[in-house]
Amino acid sequence: MNYQQILDTIYEEMSYRDVSGKVASYIPELARVDRKKFGMHVYCGDQENFSFGDSDECFSIQSISKVFTLAMAMRLMGEDLWDRLNVEPSGDPFNSLTQLEYENGVPRNPFINAGALVLSDILVDQLKDPKRELLDFVHKITGDTSIKYDETVAQSEKSTGYRNIALVNYIKALGNIKCDVEPIVDFYFHQCSLSMSCAQLSKAFMIFANKGRVLETGEKILKPKTVKRINALMQTCGFYDEAGEFSFQVGLPGKSGVGGGIVAIHPDNYSVAVWSPILNEKGNSELGMKALERLTTLTGVSVF
Ligand code: GLN
Repeated sequence: MNYQQILDTIYEEMSYRDVSGKVASYIPELARVDRKKFGMHVYCGDQENFSFGDSDECFSIQSISKVFTLAMAMRLMGEDLWDRLNVEPSGDPFNSLTQLEYENGVPRNPFINAGALVLSDILVDQLKDPKRELLDFVHKITGDTSIKYDETVAQSEKSTGYRNIALVNYIKALGNIKCDVEPIVDFYFHQCSLSMSCAQLSKAFMIFANKGRVLETGEKILKPKTVKRINALMQTCGFYDEAGEFSFQVGLPGKSGVGGGIVAIHPDNYSVAVWSPILNEKGNSELGMKALERLTTLTGVSVF
């Protein structure tokens, strides 16, 4: 497959597109990002990777980090995790509070904010230094120790994070949060602030395309069964109330973030990351979704 030629075609096609959405502004720091940024990176291995545009520039990965914290929580909790979280698509916006009321504080899935905040509670409860351990996890799966949190973004989100703080308080009132609210949201705002490029993200997600092993070293990070479940959740819940549309258009398991990044994987084949900060009304990268639709259409390969 000539991925570079396909990427060049996508870059060319996308340059003619009108993009109508807006950059996220409810986190003040994200509103400062240049809306014209656009990059994409397909990773098949260290010697075999393909890219265009701003693929080496770091951006705020935001909710893409929820896949990393889910992987860490599954390693710690095994099947017991599913007493605290459900595995159904929510059909609601990522920051919604409504379902919690009638579902007794058990979030629909780990990829909406409510679910990720329960994951955060678990990691804060069980790990001595969760921020350090999350960084160690990301460094290990990428082999890249330069990846770090963006303190300015973390503090910016903290200053306006009323909904997330409300979510933790509400879930705690319903009995599904153990720790104090402050360390949970502090960890959550930091995980969202992780600053990574498309090149780094696509390499990190290769463990989900390679049955839980780091491709370059062969090191086993996750059990194949864990990977199967995480990929199933990305397929059904990775794009909030647009999960059906992403599946329909692209046909790969993936995860988005309001920083404008999307990562998707083709099991046993490749991992791909794309970044364009302009979001559609569901909070997913407008150009990113279109670029990935073109990738699976032009290659003629998806998981379906
Ligand atoms: N930090 C963001 C929030 O909690 C993450 C949301 C997202 O990327 N969808 O609102």
